[in-house]
Amino acid sequence: MMTASPASLTYRVDGSSPDGGEAQPHAPHALLASRQEDTVIWGRKWLERFGFRVSTAGTLDEAAALLENDPPEVMIVDGSLRGPDAAPAWTAVRKLPGGADLPVLAICPNDKEARRAVAEGSTDVVSRPIEWQVLSRRAARLVEAHRTSRELAATRAELEGLRAKAGSDSTHDQAQPLDGLTGLPQRKAFEQVLDGALGGSRTGFTLAVLFLDLDRFKLINGTYGRLGGSQVLVQVGERLRACLRKRELLGPRRAGMATAAVARLAGDAFGMMVSPAGSREDVAPIAQAVLDAFTQPFLVDEAEVYVSASVGIAIAPADGTTAEELLQRAELAMADAGRRGGGAFRFYSRGLSDARQRSLKIDRLLRRTLERNELSVHYQPIIDSRSQRIVGAEALLRWQSPELGNVPPMEFIPVAEETGFMVEIGRWVLQTSCRALREWDEERLPHIRMATNVSLCQLTRGNLPQLVDEVLAETGVEPTRLELELSERGALRSDPEILRQLQALRRRGVRVSVDDFGTGDSAIAYLKRFPLDTLKVDQSFVAGALTDPDDAAITSAMIAMAHRLRLRVVAEGVEQQQQVDLLNRLECEEVQGFFFSPPVPAPAFRELLSANAKPARKSPAVWPELGTQEVTR
Ligand code: C2E
Ligand code: MG
Ligand code: MG
Repeated sequence: MMTASPASLTYRVDGSSPDGGEAQPHAPHALLASRQEDTVIWGRKWLERFGFRVSTAGTLDEAAALLENDPPEVMIVDGSLRGPDAAPAWTAVRKLPGGADLPVLAICPNDKEARRAVAEGSTDVVSRPIEWQVLSRRAARLVEAHRTSRELAATRAELEGLRAKAGSDSTHDQAQPLDGLTGLPQRKAFEQVLDGALGGSRTGFTLAVLFLDLDRFKLINGTYGRLGGSQVLVQVGERLRACLRKRELLGPRRAGMATAAVARLAGDAFGMMVSPAGSREDVAPIAQAVLDAFTQPFLVDEAEVYVSASVGIAIAPADGTTAEELLQRAELAMADAGRRGGGAFRFYSRGLSDARQRSLKIDRLLRRTLERNELSVHYQPIIDSRSQRIVGAEALLRWQSPELGNVPPMEFIPVAEETGFMVEIGRWVLQTSCRALREWDEERLPHIRMATNVSLCQLTRGNLPQLVDEVLAETGVEPTRLELELSERGALRSDPEILRQLQALRRRGVRVSVDDFGTGDSAIAYLKRFPLDTLKVDQSFVAGALTDPDDAAITSAMIAMAHRLRLRVVAEGVEQQQQVDLLNRLECEEVQGFFFSPPVPAPAFRELLSANAKPARKSPAVWPELGTQEVTR
């Protein structure tokens, strides 16, 4: 007796719509043995709906032939079938070749028979009247459990093999396959499991690799010590394992069949593998579940600690076909998620690879620049609006690379900031520019101030006040003649440590300016908190001020606001006389831009300064020689 017709079925194990009964290329094979025609007909329809490829047998002899020629992954056997010695079918099947460890689901006429079937070796039972949906679901779970246990056995054998190999070869530097802390496979073992899974790949095969890294783990180690960090890692391992055990995430794939693995790849990096993966849309919920596993705090001793993670995902075969490729690309995507603030997942894309390749190259080449003298500093004059005289110079970094040519600062500085190498470069810029200032002083050129740009990492990873002390002591430059520019977008953070360093610098007399003002999101109230002297209106507003009424209004408002806060204003990117006039009307104290001069090498700047020392002229015709200078725009 049927309880529902297949036509009325609207969901399968995962709650999604059945896909029309088409068997998938990897469809698990079910053997349905029953004498009853309606059981065979309905059984086939329902099992196919759940993604099975179905063979049927009317007798145990037919079933035996199938077991040998086309072994199923699960057998559904009708208890009314009897074996040769009239034994019930479920016991008879066990004696058939290939039947010993086959998952067997027995259909029993009543509960009493069902109890007997379980006692006598059937793996699972359903009673009549048959709930076909329940039967199909149970069959799917039996296959899943069987596959998982086979894979676990294979992985275990593989790990045992590795362990034996590592043990038998004392010079072998192969790390232990299992991580002592979390009990998870380590990177090498994980790669082998991945390669194993990828090796057997067939058409339609998909596998996702998730690369997970804890955000700001160093902070936890720093705060709670390595033991505290270890406690977090153990809990992360447990949560990730639990995640992959969640049936609703993995179970539904292909009628409930999925392989999954977790590994500890290194330090605070974990890897996960899921197959079949399907599309990005299928993998996204898994990645989200992984992130959700971090919403609860971790326990370090008695303390609750919140940790977030960044996850990168690569899906085979589209993103790679070897373990190495997939891990590398998933890691790239993870790094990208991390750069965007963490606590999120990202899929790998080719653009990420190209950009990363270039960044890696820049990073590699940049590290040799200092000893090879490939870096230089150019200087751009800062002009007093009224007198038209040079009152300052902004030091701007240049890199002429033999391999890459002229690399713009906007391209290589972010790379150097990310790796922290900018701390070293920043020191060099400060030294070079202060030495130049000192030389100009010695030549009795006008006493101007030197403005150098400062990256956030110089404040967070370096000690800026100490560096400034050293450089000023070495060059004899007065603190009041040094101005440090912090971009509103990057370095101007109301972090107590940053504020402390800025205040320390201000106490020495060093000036601080906010660069690129208008491109960040600083509220005026927020600006008040910083010890500032100068505000530099970003060039995008200056560029638009003549044509765009909004830009003109914003520029005017920014200047007025800066004056209220008793800040001096420098307008950047001034390219035309009309802009100079407008800025003059707005009482902007200082201007800087190509209209006066682009950034030029030190000798050229020296010439500008020397020419500018002569009595002022009415127009900026003071800068005629620039057309022939070596300049960088
Ligand atoms: P910034 O500090 O805002 O520097 C001004 C940028 O505008 C410079 O670009 C300069 O060449 C350009 N510029 C000057 N006048 C004009 C003009 O009239 N029109 C136009 N369109 N542009 C003009 P540059 O040299 O490419 O530097 C870009 C950025 O790189 C700088 O922006 C600064 O944020 C950063 N940077 C440069 N040198 C250093 C450095 O030594 N340390 C740090 N941390 N950052 C630096
Ligand atoms: Mg600047
Ligand atoms: Mg700027």
